[in-house]
Amino acid sequence: MQNIVVTGKSGAGKQPRIDVLVSEFGLTQLSTGNIFRHYLGVFKGLKHARTPESYWDAATSAFVPDDAIRADLATACEGKKVPVDDAVLGLKAARFVDAGLFVPDSITNALFEGAFLKHEGRGLILDGYPRTADQSQFLLDAVSRAGTSLDAVLIVDNEDELIIGRTVGRRICPSCQKVFHLEFKPPRDGHLCTACGAEVIHRSDDTEDKIRTRLAEFQKKTLPAIGVLTAQGIPQVRVPGNLPVFTDEIVRASVLEALSPILK
Ligand SMILES: [Zn+2]
Repeated sequence: MQNIVVTGKSGAGKQPRIDVLVSEFGLTQLSTGNIFRHYLGVFKGLKHARTPESYWDAATSAFVPDDAIRADLATACEGKKVPVDDAVLGLKAARFVDAGLFVPDSITNALFEGAFLKHEGRGLILDGYPRTADQSQFLLDAVSRAGTSLDAVLIVDNEDELIIGRTVGRRICPSCQKVFHLEFKPPRDGHLCTACGAEVIHRSDDTEDKIRTRLAEFQKKTLPAIGVLTAQGIPQVRVPGNLPVFTDEIVRASVLEALSPILK
């Protein structure tokens, strides 16, 4: 398998299925959240004196040319031994993220492709990308540019009301991002990460209002994004996010069964 997209409503239960793909096929999880953290971290690590906003040309609603940004960051990047192109992408992302603004697809796409190519565009589980129809089209082009393929879209199905009921029980390790559930996948002693021992947290956006907003976003944007991939012939497979009995072995079996037509 070269690359697979794993998608589903927020809280549907993607991570346990991703864990199966990592252990069964040796794939690497490429999450949008981690991609953003990487590029923002590279830029922030430079402690650059000018703000990202100062590279934004309000008259044209665009950044000044990349060469100008690159020239400003080059020396600091050499000192820190980080690629200047990563710092430029980080600066652009920071302009939106720091202000709490919606990040345009063009920026998200550029960050995605940068990270995708660091892995030679293969062996990846795409998580949190693509989330819009434009991102899907960009992904298809990026895969083609890399000379690789997208084998399938794995959709983790789940019902809205079940997700809402379960999300209040979700806990996350702030240190290694491992996801737990108080009932279905409990942390050690009810509050410690089983992987690294850190105290798990209940995210402030795991409230009913915020979950409903994310569910609406899935209907409005992610479903059309999946539609673009399907229309281009990428096979779609589905696994149930809600299992009557939830064990690692049952999750594994359900993922392998769903993928069996693809793996033939
Ligand atoms: Zn941890």
